[in-house]
Amino acid sequence: MNVLVINAGSSSLKYQLMNPETGDVSAKGLCERIGIDGRLTHKVGGNKVVKDIPMPSHSEAIQAVLSILVDPVDGVIKSTDEIDAVGHRVVHGGEKFADSCLIDDSVIKAIEDCIPLGPLHNPANLLGIRACQSIMPNTPQVAVFDTAFHMTMPAKAYRYAIPTEYYKNDSIRRYGFHGTSHKYVALRTAELIGKKEFKMVNCHLGNGSSMAAIKNGKVQDTSMGLSPLAGVPMGTRSGDIDACVVQFICNKYNMSVDECLTMLNKKSGVLGLSGVSSDFRDLEDGAQKGNADCQLALDKFCYETAKYVGAYAAALNGIDVLTFTAGVGENGSYVRQEVCNYLGFMGVKIDAEKNKVRGEEMKISTDDSKVEVWVVPTNEELMIAKDTVALVNAAK
Ligand code: ADP
Repeated sequence: MNVLVINAGSSSLKYQLMNPETGDVSAKGLCERIGIDGRLTHKVGGNKVVKDIPMPSHSEAIQAVLSILVDPVDGVIKSTDEIDAVGHRVVHGGEKFADSCLIDDSVIKAIEDCIPLGPLHNPANLLGIRACQSIMPNTPQVAVFDTAFHMTMPAKAYRYAIPTEYYKNDSIRRYGFHGTSHKYVALRTAELIGKKEFKMVNCHLGNGSSMAAIKNGKVQDTSMGLSPLAGVPMGTRSGDIDACVVQFICNKYNMSVDECLTMLNKKSGVLGLSGVSSDFRDLEDGAQKGNADCQLALDKFCYETAKYVGAYAAALNGIDVLTFTAGVGENGSYVRQEVCNYLGFMGVKIDAEKNKVRGEEMKISTDDSKVEVWVVPTNEELMIAKDTVALVNAAK
């Protein structure tokens, strides 16, 4: 079976053609500069092809992807009929979607209704869905939401302590993001430790970072909120911040709220603190060379991440497993070590040698650690493909 996984942004579109049973990716790539001019980067095995193709809209981008997938030289399938289903990443599913679902008109309408909650992402995701529908009208399409896996949170975790009318009238609440990644890691961890019932905290630490407290496979709390700005500090996002900071900055610098939020989303986090980079490799280099601001950015990131683990361990009444995933979580030995150093009081102990691991599944805790600590590389595309095939098969 072949599932085409699509992650559409406002001017870009990532794709992977994969077999959900084996996880084998036969081709993957990226369309960039949609609406500007258009460039396709297509990868099969170790080979990479880059083509400038006009892409006035997402429709031409999808067309370019399908054309190269069936291309006699660069392609991997003979006909687009070999694509059994398409799985779309959709960022915001609001309260309407607690799971992935087959796309029909009512689902499209519900995704549109969530645009006020996900104004940056949902419109682009819809463009990808509509383009696929028009070009492949007979191929089933599935929507997989970043928010859905978090819908098991209890009200005490998802409600903000503000007047109830804002929740009732406007659906203002914690939603959480990276749900597809948290779900993949939770399911994979259950396989790795051979248990279904256990309590874990997953640290998805990448350019965007989020934490999830998960009990028996169900999210109990997560660090991102109504938007992905909340939680631990990130590459360029501030993470949790006192709302009065916004008021102060807007008043003093004559900024609009939107301008201030752009600063909090794009110029803050470890980039803002270090003044050097949002990339943790640069921060580690800088800190090693004695740059105190780079060191502070790393210290702040590890400190806040560890605080979330402690808070979630309290929320879950103890944890059995701590997992690290995404770019920093999978590769950043320094960050993992520093975070775990704070957690010694909970009996967390990691093996310095095993902690050197990069991008591979590995238990990095010592045998006498009270909490198992694992590096579990995430695979959001595989999770999307698996959800897609399960829904398509169930509908047969
Ligand atoms: P995104 O949130 O964009 O999906 P990723 O999960 O791909 O981000 O993570 C990207 C980040 O991973 C980079 O910004 C970089 O800081 C970090 N990273 C990659 N390799 C390493 C490494 N060897 N050590 C520390 N951090 C790393």
